[in-house]
Amino acid sequence: KSFEDLGLDERILKGLSTMNFRKPSKVQERALPLLMHNPPKNLVGQSQSGTGKTAAFVLNILSRVDLSTEELQNTPQALILAPTRELARQIVGVVQLMGQFLDGLTIGTAVPADASARPTRMSAAIVVGTPGTVQDMIKRRILNPTQLKVLVLDEADNMLDQQGLGDQCIRVKAMLPRTIQVVLFSATFPAHVHRYAAKFAPEANEITL
Ligand code: AMP
Repeated sequence: KSFEDLGLDERILKGLSTMNFRKPSKVQERALPLLMHNPPKNLVGQSQSGTGKTAAFVLNILSRVDLSTEELQNTPQALILAPTRELARQIVGVVQLMGQFLDGLTIGTAVPADASARPTRMSAAIVVGTPGTVQDMIKRRILNPTQLKVLVLDEADNMLDQQGLGDQCIRVKAMLPRTIQVVLFSATFPAHVHRYAAKFAPEANEITL
């Protein structure tokens, strides 16, 4: 299977080729048809870092965002939650490279920052952030959650290792549209991560590598 076979947009394929991604990794080959299927369905995936899971959820998001008007370009449509600001920044870098040929694509970062660096309005189609800052921005009406259609929780096991972060993600999700597509990745699935995934991403397709 090639990236072309997965039905990706030409401009996304061009981004992948500049990144030297020649063929899908195993997790991409398995996750992408499930992620991109319509109507959208939740996905829970077990995948270590280094396997290409970031590209899998980013490609689905890039395929689903609608950038056809300036208003849409400035409205959050996909939200990625990461356990640390470093991981959030890495994900932003991947989205920027993969989406570099999509006109009007804007990406916002919602991570703890000095008051002076804090945006007053999150006008980006894709937002990557840490749970506490995202929750705060929604509460303060800096981030409009009403048009979000994809929610990704990356490194769920790491998230749950940090006090309170798992609950924070649940609180964020409660503020989002009910019909949102939820995608959860975790490197490991001990019982507590399993239980959490069943609650956070109900009725999901599941993949293990
Ligand atoms: P991740 O598992 O998302 O942390 O990705 C691991 C590494 O593999 C990253 O450095 C990616 O740039 C790279 N990578 C992911 N998918 C592919 C692919 N299909 N072809 C080549 N490199 C890839």
